Amino acid sequence: MNTSFHFKLTQSAMLASAILFLTAPAAQADRLADNLAAMEAQSPINITTNNTTFDKNLSPLLFTLNSDTQLKVINNGSPGVDKTAARANLVDPGAGSVTVGGDTYRLSQFHFHTPAEHLENGYKFPMEMHLVFADAQNNLLVVGRWIEEGSFNKALAPIFSNLPHSVTDTLTVDHFNLNALIPDNLNSFRYDGSLTTPPFSEGVKWVDLAQPMEMSKEQISAFSSLFPNGDAREVQALNGRPIFTDVPGFATVVPEPETYAMLLAGLCLIGFVARRRLVNPGFVGSIA
Ligand SMILES: [Zn+2]
Repeated sequence: MNTSFHFKLTQSAMLASAILFLTAPAAQADRLADNLAAMEAQSPINITTNNTTFDKNLSPLLFTLNSDTQLKVINNGSPGVDKTAARANLVDPGAGSVTVGGDTYRLSQFHFHTPAEHLENGYKFPMEMHLVFADAQNNLLVVGRWIEEGSFNKALAPIFSNLPHSVTDTLTVDHFNLNALIPDNLNSFRYDGSLTTPPFSEGVKWVDLAQPMEMSKEQISAFSSLFPNGDAREVQALNGRPIFTDVPGFATVVPEPETYAMLLAGLCLIGFVARRRLVNPGFVGSIA
């Protein structure tokens, strides 16, 4: 990463912001644009084999989720900025949490985007789910999961067969099993990013689960027909941020553990041969 380049970019952005601030009315949209110009750790991003680093020791994700909870599903419409409409499914307080690296985050809501916001090697899934968690200090952690077309999703059927069509509708879903949202395989991609809707605040920890969730074609179109222009933000520049993954064989940047093992074995062999050369003459001499 070229830091001086980024420094210059930031300076330019700040200068541009200052000019805008002096000349334009202090409208909210303008301020948002100004802030955005100075921010460099935005979400979503394109996750690729070339920008990820393998780490088999990522902190485990310990989910505690209610298997029988009530949801209030709302349609929060379209704010009209960068196609960032979103549908939020509000969850009862205490219905779920995730503990990562000793910090516990409580589930506040989950919602869906169409098409997917994060890309995987440039591929755009038809949908993406975001589970938004917050810790006691209100630091955000978002667990993202891609949705692919496949089998009818029975667990999500109560939501997707009765989606609220207007911002004034609220759908109540009883006996919802939150565990149905999480796969058995918790391999993931992790990086530091931002909200993907205004105000695009940074400092958000992202955990993108690698195993997609299946929904039927009908379920996906029930959602996407409500947002004909989509409700997904475009991918943002990575700007040198690291992305870590424990998905075996995904990352190509860093040597796989097998390579380390081979390297280590090679070094041991060299050491063994060197010791033999030192030891053998004396040993032979003592026999004689
Ligand atoms: Zn989202």
